Amino acid sequence: MTIRPIIILPDPKLRLVSETVPKVTPEIRALIDDMFATMYDAPGIGLAAIQVGVPQRVVTIDVAKAEEPKTPIALINPEIVWSSPELSVYEEGCLSIPEYYEEVERPAKVRVRFTDREGAACEIEADGLLATCLQHEIDHLHGKLFIDHISKLKRDRVVKKFAKAAKREHEL
Ligand code: ZN
Repeated sequence: MTIRPIIILPDPKLRLVSETVPKVTPEIRALIDDMFATMYDAPGIGLAAIQVGVPQRVVTIDVAKAEEPKTPIALINPEIVWSSPELSVYEEGCLSIPEYYEEVERPAKVRVRFTDREGAACEIEADGLLATCLQHEIDHLHGKLFIDHISKLKRDRVVKKFAKAAKREHEL
């Protein structure tokens, strides 16, 4: 297992649309293992493959609290097949937009169809933090970020801040 570097805003790769995984190969399982290692190390509760620069439809999630037993979920080709009309608001963050948090409103419950790491077809229904996390990570597979759900004013401000930081790093 390898901890892979996480790409940061404004890396244009974050805007790529990820490709469907045709078959769960040993390479995909190795990618999942690396993603869990990277996510736990960060630490974070969700990671999409594109965040380690791989444009494939793979997501890892674990919303268990630090003192609770781990509940890792690996999702290949996840797809939201139903979302509730009720909405809920969570303060979201993203490992690709470090130390920035903002409230986002999304459907409170979702049902997600996906393939697991053994290649089996699965479906889960989630609410609470897991529902938000699933939607946030599936957004990544479409090149979408949580800041796309906030006001343009706030988004422009954070994009500018990260662009400046990247420029500074480049000049050093
Ligand atoms: Zn994210």
